[in-house]
Amino acid sequence: MPDVILKAEELVKHYPIKTGVVRRTTGKVRAVDGVSFELHRGETLGVVGESGCGKSTLGRLLMRLEEPTSGHLDFDGVDMYAQKGRDMDRMRRDIQIVFQDPYTSLDPRMTVGDIIAEPFKIHPDVVPARKRKERVRELLDLVGLSPEHINRYPHQFSGGQRQRIGVARGLALNPKVLILDEPVSALDVSVQAQVVNLLDHLQRELNLSYVFIAHDLSVVRHISDRVAVMYLGKIVEIGDDAQIYEHATHPYTQALLSAVPVPDPVVEESREQIVLTGDVPSPANPPKGCRFHTRCWKATEKCKTEVPLLQLRGDGQGQHLSACHYAEALK
Ligand code: SF4
Repeated sequence: MPDVILKAEELVKHYPIKTGVVRRTTGKVRAVDGVSFELHRGETLGVVGESGCGKSTLGRLLMRLEEPTSGHLDFDGVDMYAQKGRDMDRMRRDIQIVFQDPYTSLDPRMTVGDIIAEPFKIHPDVVPARKRKERVRELLDLVGLSPEHINRYPHQFSGGQRQRIGVARGLALNPKVLILDEPVSALDVSVQAQVVNLLDHLQRELNLSYVFIAHDLSVVRHISDRVAVMYLGKIVEIGDDAQIYEHATHPYTQALLSAVPVPDPVVEESREQIVLTGDVPSPANPPKGCRFHTRCWKATEKCKTEVPLLQLRGDGQGQHLSACHYAEALK
């Protein structure tokens, strides 16, 4: 049995919609609407979906930067949402986040050394004050930057180097889990690969577990062990890397996959692309039945009324969890 470090059960986050002078609650935005998964020690779970699907809210719930509306989250066998005060602080050290945009997530007035040492202000007992500079130098070296640059400012670095600084800050407290919230989306494609390779290397070196949030399947392909595809606050398909990329059964995943470019120009020319029409519906008013039915080319009357459960579908080696009434392996 693989060792589970993070276990989410039916996580829900609804935001009330308040209107009128008395700010009466007139509805709710269902940002995350019943998400369950396990993250194994040393594993990377890719979480993929279009903007507005709830993946970043999910990331914040996993860090407890937001309180859930309902649901459970176990971290290393301990109920995270039941923790208070110092117990919660201690737990927070073990789960850190790297944000999307390296251009805005680093304070331009602080030196790189101060940015990376920032977590020690909140958790001063992790590294004694006299050893912090040395630890920051180690971290710079670990992420492939020169320790000599400790007194430079963020604007003196390229986008890729800034994201390395963000990763160094995320590692300062020796966490067990990193939530990577679109860590390479703001970077050029060539630089993306370097940062993904660095994350891959750090994972093996430090036995880290990652939740890697991204908006397209190509980014997480080379780093994920398993992939969860989200649509309108729900996981619609989850499985091992090979199951998702070779045997996707949900039409939404199939559409996302068809948008991933293939390096071979002959294959690229001949393959069929699935173009999704229409926008993602509002999470304040998700469609009844299957939430994807307004954009799905396979939808039937049944899809408009019956919610498809996330359950084992597909056949043979491609068997994995998918939420489609008509799930079948992509031929
Ligand atoms: Fe499409 Fe119906 Fe499957 Fe939903 S349940 S993904 S609408 S075929």
